[in-house]
Amino acid sequence: MNQTSPTVQQLSRRAFLQGSTLLLAAPALTSARLTELCTRKLQDPQETDSKLKLGLITDLHHADKPAAGSRHYRETLTKLEEAASQFAEDDPQFIVELGDLIDAADDVDTELAYLETVHSAIDQLPGEKHFVLGNHCVHTLTKDEFLSGVGQEQSHLSWDAEGWHFVVLDACFRSDGVAYGRKNFEWTDTFIPQEQLDWLRADLEAAEAPTIVFAHQRLDVDNHYGVKNAAAVRQILESAKLDGQPAVRAVFQGHSHKNDLKEHGGIPYCTLVAMVEGSGAENNGFSTLHIEEDQTLRLTGFRQQSSREWKPTASAANRTPDSAAKSLRIQPNNIKAATS
Ligand SMILES: [Zn+2]
Repeated sequence: MNQTSPTVQQLSRRAFLQGSTLLLAAPALTSARLTELCTRKLQDPQETDSKLKLGLITDLHHADKPAAGSRHYRETLTKLEEAASQFAEDDPQFIVELGDLIDAADDVDTELAYLETVHSAIDQLPGEKHFVLGNHCVHTLTKDEFLSGVGQEQSHLSWDAEGWHFVVLDACFRSDGVAYGRKNFEWTDTFIPQEQLDWLRADLEAAEAPTIVFAHQRLDVDNHYGVKNAAAVRQILESAKLDGQPAVRAVFQGHSHKNDLKEHGGIPYCTLVAMVEGSGAENNGFSTLHIEEDQTLRLTGFRQQSSREWKPTASAANRTPDSAAKSLRIQPNNIKAATS
C-alpha cells in the first residue's frame, strides 16, 4: 500500500467475538445466535453518522430448479427475505444488485417468470434500485428483456447523491464488442467496449466527486473471472483525481462468489459473496455500505459477507464539510446514462 492509498482494514467476525463482553458472558450460545449477536454488534457504532447507506446484494441466481453443486437456487428468495428485514432496519437510500440475479431456465418465458418473481421481491426493499448486468442475467434473455424486466433503461449509468457519485458498468460484451444475449457468448469472454470506456472517462471527469463503482465481472484480476480489458478500465479509474487523490474510493464486484479484496493504484476492489452459495440462512450473504460524513466507507457484512472499512486520506477528509459534498442534495432522478 502506498502513501496515497485509503486505509484498508478488514473487520473480521473474530475481532468482534473477541471484543464482545456479551459473548464472553454466554459461552453456550449456538453459532446461529453468535452470528446474530455479531451482526447486531456490527450495526451499533456510529450508526447515526452515516450520510448515505446502500444495500448491496449479488449473485442471487434465482431459479425454480434443484440445487447444483453449492448453488441452492430455490433458497434465494428466503435469503432475500432476511436481507429485506435487515434493510428495513438500516433504511438505505439505494439498493445495488451486482448481477446474476437469475439463473437459466429451459425457455425464455420461464426465465422471464423467474425474473418477475425475484424482481418483485427486490422491489419491496427500501430505496432506489440499480441493477448491474451479470452474465447469467443475459444468458438466455436479451439485455432489453432483462432491463425492461427490472424497469431500468440503461445497462451502464451513473447517479449523484449527497456529494457522492456512483457508477454502474456493463461488462457483458464479447471481446469483439458484441453484446451478450441468447447464448451467444462464453462467460470467460467479458469485455467493456471502447464506447463505454469513453463514456466512463467523461463521466468521471464531469463528476468531480468521490466515486463508487459497481461491476459484475472483476476488474482486479487477470484470470477467467476478470474483464479482458480490465487494465484499460483501471487506468481510467485511476486517472480520475480529486485534490490529487484517487476520486474512485472503492469498486464493488460480484461474479466469483467469494469474499476478496485487492488494491490497484490506491483503489480498493472488493468482491462480495454470492447469495446463492450454500444451503441455509447461515450461508446467506449481503451487506450495507455506510458512507460517513468524514468520507469513511464502512461495509457492514452479514452472514458470510466480510465487513470492511476504508478511511479517506487526510486531504480528502478535510474537503468534505465545506465543498461540493455539502451543497449537493440527493438527486434520485439524475441518471446520467449513455446512449447505447
Ligand atoms: Zn457472473
